[in-house]
Amino acid sequence: MSDTYDLIVLGSGPGGYVAAIRGAQLGLKTAIVERENLGGICLNWGCIPTKALLRSAEIYHYMQHAKDYGLAAASISADLDAVVKRSRGVAKQLNQGVTHLMKKNKITVHMGEGRLTGAGKLEIKSEKGTETLSAKHIIVATGARARDLPFAPADGKRIWTYRHAMTPPEMPKKLLVIGSGAIGIEFASFYNDMGAEVTVVEMLDRIVPVEDADVSSFLEKSLKKQGMTILTGAGVEELKAGANGVSAKIKTKDGKVEAGDYSHAIVAIGIVPNTENIGLEALKVKTTKGHIDTDPWCRTNVPGLWAIGDVTAPPWLAHKASHEGVIAAEAIAKELGNKDAHPHPMDARNIPGCTYCHPQIASVGLTEAKAKEAGYDVKVGNFPFIGNGKAIALGEVEGFVKTVFDAKTGELLGAHMVGAEVTEMIQGYTVGKTAELVEEDFMHSVYPHPTISETMHEAVLGAYGRALHI
Ligand SMILES: Cc1cc2nc3c(=O)[nH]c(=O)nc-3n(C[C@H](O)[C@H](O)[C@H](O)COP(=O)(O)OP(=O)(O)OC[C@H]3O[C@@H](n4cnc5c(N)ncnc54)[C@H](O)[C@@H]3O)c2cc1C
Repeated sequence: MSDTYDLIVLGSGPGGYVAAIRGAQLGLKTAIVERENLGGICLNWGCIPTKALLRSAEIYHYMQHAKDYGLAAASISADLDAVVKRSRGVAKQLNQGVTHLMKKNKITVHMGEGRLTGAGKLEIKSEKGTETLSAKHIIVATGARARDLPFAPADGKRIWTYRHAMTPPEMPKKLLVIGSGAIGIEFASFYNDMGAEVTVVEMLDRIVPVEDADVSSFLEKSLKKQGMTILTGAGVEELKAGANGVSAKIKTKDGKVEAGDYSHAIVAIGIVPNTENIGLEALKVKTTKGHIDTDPWCRTNVPGLWAIGDVTAPPWLAHKASHEGVIAAEAIAKELGNKDAHPHPMDARNIPGCTYCHPQIASVGLTEAKAKEAGYDVKVGNFPFIGNGKAIALGEVEGFVKTVFDAKTGELLGAHMVGAEVTEMIQGYTVGKTAELVEEDFMHSVYPHPTISETMHEAVLGAYGRALHI
């Protein structure tokens, strides 16, 4: 006989495990299915372990610059194995945390490979054999994996995906990072701070291409100043791994093909959704470029089947996955008659994005170019960190905050930041955007002094010609 649930969640990343918790909170009999690690990519192989690595690199950087703060630090060195060990320990702690949360919320965990076998039916294969579960509703949250270069698949020795880069067999001496999205730039920043010679290759004409153009050019200058080589408008045409390194042929901006030798390469050219062998075809689930199509409440085209997170449309971010998890669980509870469930639709314009390179970048909403393309008449504010007392006291004067307002209505269309701690600050603008605040609300808010967040106030004032400290 099969176990029957109100809700089964397939995949336990930040989308899946959060959906399961919210479902259980709303009284749904809930199960979760996971084939590898509770917590998914984010906790085990993504967001969290990379931030642990980057924290070590940040401290190493400060130690090397101790003199700037009137301090001395002698015989500074980095032990990559110990840095990686700490990062794996942090990931393990969070994985155990999710195990605890499943127990606390009385969610049944099934470890094994899940596959949809019909409407409301799921089969799980594990070492224990095959079991069948059924549910009124199923949420697919199977996430995604790294995309390989078609002509040079990762071998884990010389050509790495993010998983290899997170548990490196050795410290790269001369590293080629292919792709300058958030993942590529974070690893480039980490290994550069740790002492590797780093080259970043980006096919488009600027790095971090989804960000505002001003952020891209500021970051490029900063990374070059830190010693990185950055090749934009360039493509890797050949990548060959040998016993002692990788050789690459790179077509540069001017059309020339240049050969180069590196000790290792990290391929960070995007992700592939985990949609194969999970039974989507038989149910005729609609997809676009492999990612499952959903409405703003995370419904697929198949009744009773929902999808969230990286397996659906971008942005492919953990907080987007978790937010969708809450929306889907609430929408399911409502369909099952829970009058306390009030799901709201997802609004992709209000999802912030953060990259934890050095200096950090963070943004929400439209870039200046996208706002203009969409036909808005814009007012733009821009405030540099050098005009902020706290940034000067911290020795972190590299950075700026940029705001983009609709000149007609005062709506904040977008905000873009680069500099220290900006990943902690972007939430101020995100809350404001979600609450549909206008320029006056941001101007009339009181910002604590001394904080770097005062630059957020100044960037709003600046858009209306009223900045105070510049
Ligand atoms: C190096 C790196 C750094 C990142 N840093 C950030 C960051 O700083 N901030 C941020 O917001 N995002 C970051 N991300 C992205 C973030 O990790 C993803 O957006 C997030 O994990 C997506 O969550 P998810 O729940 O959709 O899927 P996932 O986290 O991918 O989880 C899916 C789970 O489903 C399981 N699964 C798949 N198929 C099956 C099956 N058939 N049966 C059973 N289980 C299955 C998988 O094993 C996995 O555990 C980073 C990603 C990487 C790779």
